[in-house]
Amino acid sequence: RKKVVRISTGSKQFDSILNGGFQSMSISEVFGEFRCGKTQLSHTMSVVAQLPKELGGAAGRVAYIDTEGTFRPERISQIAERFGIDPDTAQENISYARALNSEHQLELLNTLSQAFVGGEYRLLVIDSIMNCFRVDYCGRGELADRQQKLNQFLMKLAHMAEGEKYYYLRGFLVALADLVWLAEFNVCVLMTNQVQSDPGASALFAGADGRKPVGGHVLAHASTTRVLLRKGRGDERVAKIQDSPDCAEREAIYVITNGGIND
Ligand code: ADP
Ligand code: MG
Repeated sequence: RKKVVRISTGSKQFDSILNGGFQSMSISEVFGEFRCGKTQLSHTMSVVAQLPKELGGAAGRVAYIDTEGTFRPERISQIAERFGIDPDTAQENISYARALNSEHQLELLNTLSQAFVGGEYRLLVIDSIMNCFRVDYCGRGELADRQQKLNQFLMKLAHMAEGEKYYYLRGFLVALADLVWLAEFNVCVLMTNQVQSDPGASALFAGADGRKPVGGHVLAHASTTRVLLRKGRGDERVAKIQDSPDCAEREAIYVITNGGIND
């Protein structure tokens, strides 16, 4: 088994409650209200993941699935400058795709799983995981369908993060069906999530302040580590571990700067 890497968030305090950062071979979810920094964290980690391990990175490429149309290459350049990476190189190391609907989101994952075989990718960002599913399946009667599709997507994600053994058909010599064992992916999956706007909703997944991520049980089971982001005093933001197999439920304060997430 490949060694798990931890990718820094850009904030030392935030990293410390995560025991060093978000892990590879695992699915992490950050959820919170509008403007709490989910997209900024996604951008920051897309740059940090490219740094050498000694600097909190994973020396790898990044795949970015954007479902809300909020990815900004200029932000990548600004963040790259903070970390001393050439802005053009930083952008080239990010494979960006805009998901247009939930079917397309699933397709993108299939395409990416082929790219991951090369073993260069260390981070997969999905900002945000539920947006397309919420738009495509908005009626109550469609909830079961949505959850089934979501489950399919998440199973694929889990497979990609862990990447135990990946087989594929080499070339088009289907008759020979030459199954080749390739590499473990060793990827950190970071997905962002929205919170339920209905404050009266079941408190099952609610944080201390009642914020509840969307996606129900299906998403809850798929996320290894869940982190609630919220606004604090002034410009401060607060991250709180909600559900983790190896981190205590601690809080950290971070800020959003021109150079991305910071202390
Ligand atoms: P979310 O995705 O959770 O809705 P974002 O990650 O988009 O939230 O964060 C939005 C916040 O980031 C806003 O408060 C905005 O002012 C701040 N922000 C965006 N760009 C910069 C920047 N270059 N410098 C400082 N703050 C920024
Ligand atoms: Mg956002």
